[in-house]
Amino acid sequence: MAPVELQSLNSFGRRRSRADSQSEIDGVPLATLVERYGSPLYVTSEQRLRANIRRIRQAFTARYAKVIHGWSYKTNYNGAVCSILHQEGSWAEVVSRFEYEKARALGVPGEHIIFNGPNKQRPILERATAEGALIHVDHADELALIESIGEERRKRVPVTLRLNFETGYSESWSRFGFNLESGAARAAINQVKTSAHLRMNGLHCHIGTFILDPRAYAAAVTTLCTLAEEIEADGTRLSYLDIGGGLPSGNALQGIYLPPEQATPAIEEYAEAICSAFLAGTSYRLERGEQRPTLIFESGRAVIDDAQSLITSVVGRKETADGRPAAILDAGLNALFTALWYDHPVKLASPARGQPRDTVLYGPLCMNIDVLRHSVQLPPLAVGDLLLIAPVGAYNTTQSMQFIEYRPAVVLIHGDREVSLIRAAEDLEIVCAPERLPAHLAQTAAASVARVVPLRMTGG
Ligand SMILES: *Cc1c(COP(=O)(O)O)cnc(C)c1O
Repeated sequence: MAPVELQSLNSFGRRRSRADSQSEIDGVPLATLVERYGSPLYVTSEQRLRANIRRIRQAFTARYAKVIHGWSYKTNYNGAVCSILHQEGSWAEVVSRFEYEKARALGVPGEHIIFNGPNKQRPILERATAEGALIHVDHADELALIESIGEERRKRVPVTLRLNFETGYSESWSRFGFNLESGAARAAINQVKTSAHLRMNGLHCHIGTFILDPRAYAAAVTTLCTLAEEIEADGTRLSYLDIGGGLPSGNALQGIYLPPEQATPAIEEYAEAICSAFLAGTSYRLERGEQRPTLIFESGRAVIDDAQSLITSVVGRKETADGRPAAILDAGLNALFTALWYDHPVKLASPARGQPRDTVLYGPLCMNIDVLRHSVQLPPLAVGDLLLIAPVGAYNTTQSMQFIEYRPAVVLIHGDREVSLIRAAEDLEIVCAPERLPAHLAQTAAASVARVVPLRMTGG
């Protein structure tokens, strides 16, 4: 590992970085995109997205053939993005009724939906169990609810238990699923095994996100396999083990001062850690003359993050109280929520006009925390300059807020420099469509504005 470059830290301990310039994406000029679709604008590269999922899937299937990728909807559930990944063979990994309904509406069959999340209520559970979705149980009340659905239907509902435990290499996420160390996981397994209306189908864990150490996965997989062997001692057979998501992207996490290329292991190193632990941990099946179970993984950010960029424009300039240049942009935390924990790389769409200086990038919101970068090396900016922020594909469009500003459009570049709108920019009609004005307010609203006495101008 290279030594940490201390001179790259400013007095706030935040990463300073130098911006390069980039004027097009997949051969399409940024200026043309903004002319046609406005600014700010999210730009998605179909070519990059397909290359990413192929590389990631190949890293796994080269080591073990029976691997399924579940596309994590919450990471980016734009219909075009999901459809590309389903075309590539990914199943849907959903965590809510909305996401389940969206996957079905996009044509994903129930049997290809992995249903996670802590809030699955009876109506959607009834639908998902009837449609053969893989139900991943989060807690004991949910397990009881599924059992009562099975009882009503006089059948055994297959269930997978989500587990949480220490890996020794990652921060423990204990709020989702059944805890292994406390005994809650074994109690739930026992409940499933002794119920006439439930059947053990698999085991699941999702140990965290942006996991920087492949050994965390090796440990998690070994834990799942050991437990699977224990569960199967009485003749029970699990159809799969699901090791969740959490693979990192090439983004720059705040607080990690190495550049992403140095801080982040390659996808192949994760696939190697996961598959070799899996092959070792499931060899007990071969000794019995049986096949290994299926391996499922649910990668989100590693698949989409670098396939989407955000174009934003400079709307004004300022100087901070301590004399540094600052720019006000038309996109802020409303469009780039993950700026709270990433130092997203920023590029200029046009060639630099002067020497880079330590610059602050403000968003458009009337909120003090609306800062996209606290410190980034940028040449002097002018009103109308376009900046390209990337990677932004993971957790930004889905977490973007309709707060103060309209949310931007999302386009897809595909084929030979073709561009398609895949989400329209919001306007007054779209934002206000769900509102209802009660009758006693509808007629008077306009009239009462007219009745307000105009302010008397005094002085002079
Ligand atoms: C969010 C989530 C994922 C995707 O996580 P990434 O870190 O984006 O890979 C996968 N599985 C579950 C259960 C999740 O909640």
